[in-house]
Amino acid sequence: MSMNEIVRRCEALFDDLHFNEVKKWKAAVPGRKAIGYMPVYVPREIIHAAGMLSVGILGGGDQLEVIQGDAYYQSYICRIPRSTIELGLTGRLDCLDGMLFPSICDVIRNLSGMWQILFKDKYVRYFDVPQEYSDAVGGTYYVQELEVLREDLGKLRGTPVTDDELRASIRVFNENRRAVRELYAYRAQQPWQAPTSEVYLVLRAGMVLPVEAHTTLVREYLAAAEAEKRPKRDNARVVLTGTFCEQPPLGLIKSIELAGCYIVDDDFMLVTRWLLDDVPDNGNPLEALSKAFLHRSASTSAKYDQRREDKGKFLLQQVKSAGAEGVVFAAPSFCDPALLERPMLQDVLAKHKVPYTAFKYAENTGQMAPIREQAGTFADSIKLWSAA
Ligand code: SF4
Repeated sequence: MSMNEIVRRCEALFDDLHFNEVKKWKAAVPGRKAIGYMPVYVPREIIHAAGMLSVGILGGGDQLEVIQGDAYYQSYICRIPRSTIELGLTGRLDCLDGMLFPSICDVIRNLSGMWQILFKDKYVRYFDVPQEYSDAVGGTYYVQELEVLREDLGKLRGTPVTDDELRASIRVFNENRRAVRELYAYRAQQPWQAPTSEVYLVLRAGMVLPVEAHTTLVREYLAAAEAEKRPKRDNARVVLTGTFCEQPPLGLIKSIELAGCYIVDDDFMLVTRWLLDDVPDNGNPLEALSKAFLHRSASTSAKYDQRREDKGKFLLQQVKSAGAEGVVFAAPSFCDPALLERPMLQDVLAKHKVPYTAFKYAENTGQMAPIREQAGTFADSIKLWSAA
């Protein structure tokens, strides 16, 4: 596919709030099942091993009018739970046979309870993750959680999920993570060749496509990007952080880029890069997934840092490895995890003399002019400082 065709396809998937791609996948083989999941991370390998499609649910974006969803949450709560409820109540998620709500914040926890009450015929699970990172304590707990999920999905399909199936799925996801790592490395190296407004869409396609098809798509995009030479601009290189749950509108990402910033790393759809290395595909698969989570996973404000001195380390590493000149904090309005952690992260950045700017958004933010002005001023100030 040409670059144009790839981007158009990803846009079509992004715009489709009726999840027709999921319906198509299910219709191709009678009896197929699809399991939705919310940010930040679920072990998609287990869903895949059960022969099911994992579907990332990231709210309704700026195209969905939220009518019923507003009745379920107070006005001082972020927007993603309301629009997700709206998606559910309007039948748009009927194609899902179950939903996983990872432990990320109280809002998502409450949403999982509402889902159980509203959609009694579906499999619903609040998926808890460890807050302690030793194999003996957090690991033992987490392997049990993984085992419950494996058993539940086995019951849902009618036969248990075997270790061999899990190992095969680990291999498939290792390949996908490799492709996504290549994509991120390529963009960090040549951000003018792979703008984030496109990288975002390519990543987002992985929320609804089967993982094998997504791996192919990522590689096709990389090949198409390499084949098409694009102009290099004198932009400021920034890490965008805080976008790990409710998504900014696509227009906001474009505005930051148009304002003179190259986004060279971010925390979009962390599920695609949560596990930092290949997961061993021999031995006990659940233990392998657990160890990867405990010892080699990404960081975000929704994940507990056991030691105060670890706060901000991951962000600093992102800045360093992507060669960024500054950080843009963009958090959803009322996002407790992102906004509570922000001052601590800013403190760390200040100590390391990394410039930053910060603003808030909602998934339906319409006014881009103030954001473009702020990002533009930030980019200019970076250019002035680095010239000094
Ligand atoms: S945007 Fe923040 S507060 Fe809202 S559900 Fe996500 S993590 Fe929780």
